[in-house]
Amino acid sequence: MKTAIYPGSFDPVTYGHLDIIRRAATVFDQLIISVLNNVKKIPLFSVEERVKILKEVTKDIPNVRIESFSGLLVDYASQKNVDVIVRGLRAITDFEYELQNAQTNRLLSKGKLDTMFFTTSLEYAYLSSTTVREIASFGGDITDCVPDFVSRLIYQKYGIKREAEHEQ
Ligand code: ADP
Repeated sequence: MKTAIYPGSFDPVTYGHLDIIRRAATVFDQLIISVLNNVKKIPLFSVEERVKILKEVTKDIPNVRIESFSGLLVDYASQKNVDVIVRGLRAITDFEYELQNAQTNRLLSKGKLDTMFFTTSLEYAYLSSTTVREIASFGGDITDCVPDFVSRLIYQKYGIKREAEHEQ
């Protein structure tokens, strides 16, 4: 059985992530989506909230599992006995960072851990969690960026009552 890990912040999960998740889930027998607990960043959603949200938005994909991790990805992958990492590539700006990470992970794992890249579907090429947070924080429309259930939670975090606005 071939398992891969898709690690990331997912703060919040977007349609861009979901597109990669769906595609990767057809390539691997099992996909572990792993929420990175990055103590250096103050997130919008806690790790527990992000895990819960990811579980909800992927509940129709049977071979996906959601977990969280902290520390080195190579250590986590080795604990799980997984040797493939999935990452998404949007633009050339992602490339340098992702290449460096992939090569570092290969080095640290003594050649055991490889990274497989899925290129973004064009309709999501512009999409990032940072952009979504920024738009939402100003009360902008994020309905094309994240599932409705997620957008409601994001507006709640920013204390924005968009639904009420729509009803007026
Ligand atoms: P990180 O903070 O580790 O980059 P993210 O949650 O921002 O985590 O992203 C996780 C992965 O998903 C990364 O590989 C990123 O390039 C990819 N990704 C993010 N947004 C998109 C998108 N719109 N299309 C394709 N891949 C994406």
